[in-house]
Amino acid sequence: MGKQVTIVGGGVIGLCCAYYLQKAGHDVTVIERGGITNGTSFGNAGYVSPSHFIPLASPGIVAKGLGWMLSSSSPFYIKPRLDAGLIRWGLTFWKSANEKTMKQNIPPLNNMLHLSRELTSQIKQDLGNHFRMAEDGCFMMYKSAATEKHELELAKDAARLGIETRVLSPAEVQDMEPDVEINIKGAVIYPIDCHLHPGDFMTTMKNHLEKVGVKLQLNTEVTGFEKNGRTIKSVVTNKGKFDCDELVFASGSWLPILASQLGIHMILQAGKGYSVTYPDMKKNLRRPAILVDNRVAMTPMGKDLRMGGTMEISGINSRILIKRVESIYKAAKSYYPNLDISFPSTDKIWSGLRPLSPDGLPYVGRHDKYDNLIVAGGHAMLGVSLAAGTGKLVEEIVGEKKTSIDIAAFDVQRYG
Ligand SMILES: Cc1cc2nc3c(=O)[nH]c(=O)nc-3n(C[C@H](O)[C@H](O)[C@H](O)COP(=O)(O)OP(=O)(O)OC[C@H]3O[C@@H](n4cnc5c(N)ncnc54)[C@H](O)[C@@H]3O)c2cc1C
Repeated sequence: MGKQVTIVGGGVIGLCCAYYLQKAGHDVTVIERGGITNGTSFGNAGYVSPSHFIPLASPGIVAKGLGWMLSSSSPFYIKPRLDAGLIRWGLTFWKSANEKTMKQNIPPLNNMLHLSRELTSQIKQDLGNHFRMAEDGCFMMYKSAATEKHELELAKDAARLGIETRVLSPAEVQDMEPDVEINIKGAVIYPIDCHLHPGDFMTTMKNHLEKVGVKLQLNTEVTGFEKNGRTIKSVVTNKGKFDCDELVFASGSWLPILASQLGIHMILQAGKGYSVTYPDMKKNLRRPAILVDNRVAMTPMGKDLRMGGTMEISGINSRILIKRVESIYKAAKSYYPNLDISFPSTDKIWSGLRPLSPDGLPYVGRHDKYDNLIVAGGHAMLGVSLAAGTGKLVEEIVGEKKTSIDIAAFDVQRYG
C-alpha cells in the first residue's frame, strides 16, 4: 500500500520527487507557496549536464573567488555580512575546497549526474518532448590560454570517468554554428550533455502530476509542523493542516528556514543568478555553450535564446545588480560578435536563487532526528541536471528499497 507523502516545495526537485512517488503508487501532495509559474526552476539555463562533475567547492576557487569579489563585474560575489549562517557556510565551503574532498566528491556526483541524465531522457519518452529537450551536447568555449589549459585538463579528467569529449578548433566550432560568428580560441564539446526549456519542463510536469492525481496545494505557505515524538504528523500551513506518513523537504534556498522549524540546522546559502531570454531569434545558436572565461551560459531553446550567469551570495532577495548583467551581455557579444541581441530593460532581467550546499553535493536522504523526514535540497547550479535522479532516489527511500546509486555522500547530516 502506498504512503501519504507530503512534499514542501514545488520547484524542479519537488515535482520530480512527486513524479516518481506517484508512479510508485504513493498518495502525494505538493505544498507550494507560489503557483508553479516562475521561480528558480523556471528561468535557469536548462542544462542537464554530466560535464559538471567537478563540485562547486574545488581547489583554487577560494583564491579565485576572493579576487573576483574585488570587482563589481566579476561572475562571483559574496556580500560580506555578520550572519551566523553565512559564516558557517563560508567556513565549511573553505574546508571543502581542497583536492582530497573534491576527489572524494567527484564519483558520487558523477554517478548521480549520469543516473539523472538517463532518467531525464526517459521522462521525455514518457511525457513527450513538450519542453524543447535537445540532446546534442554542450560547448565549453574559451578565449584565454589559461582557460584553455584548464579545460583541456578537465577533458582528461572526464575521459578518466568515461565521459566523451572532443577538443575543437575555432574553425570546427564555426562549422557547427553556421548562423552566428564565433570569436574564440577553442572549445571542448561534451556530447552527452543535453538541454531543455526549464519553464516548459516545469509546466509539463505540473500538468502531468495534476492529471495523475497528485494534489498540488498552491499559494500555500508552510508555517509549522505537528509532531508526536519522533514522528511528524502534519504540516501546518496558512490554509490548514496536511497529514503525512512521510515528509519531503524540497524547498530550495528556503531549506534552512523550514528545517529550523523542526530544530534542524542545515548549512545552505542562496546563490543568485540572472538570465535574459531573447524570443524568436532570426539567427540563433545551434548548441548551448558555456563561455568559460566569464562563466556565462548560452542556451538556444527552440527559436529563443537565453543567456545567464553570475553567482551572488547576498541572502534571499531579488535585487538586480545591473553591472553583473552587463558583464553577461558583454561576454555574449564578445564570443558571438554579430549576435543580434540588445541590452535588456530591467523588467526583462530574471533572477533566481541556487540552493548552495557548502561542498557542492546535494543533500538527499533521511534525517535521523525524525522517523519520517527526507531532505532533497542543496542542488546548487545542478538542480535541473540532478532533479530526475533525486526524484527517483527519494521514491526509493520512501519505499525502503535499495537505492539506484550509493547515497552516502549526500548524507543530509554530514555537517552535524
Ligand atoms: C541563472 C541560473 C542558471 C541555472 N542554470 C542551471 C542549469 O543550466 N542546469 C541546472 O541543472 N541547474 C541550473 N540552475 C540551478 C537550478 O535552477 C536550481 O538548482 C533548481 O532550480 C533548484 O530547484 P529546487 O526545486 O531545489 O528549488 P526551487 O526551484 O527554488 O523550489 C523551491 C520551492 O519551495 C517553495 N517553498 C520554500 N519555502 C516554502 C514554504 N515555507 N512553504 C511553501 N513553499 C515553500 C518555494 O516557493 C519554491 O518554489 C541555475 C540557476 C540559476 C539561478
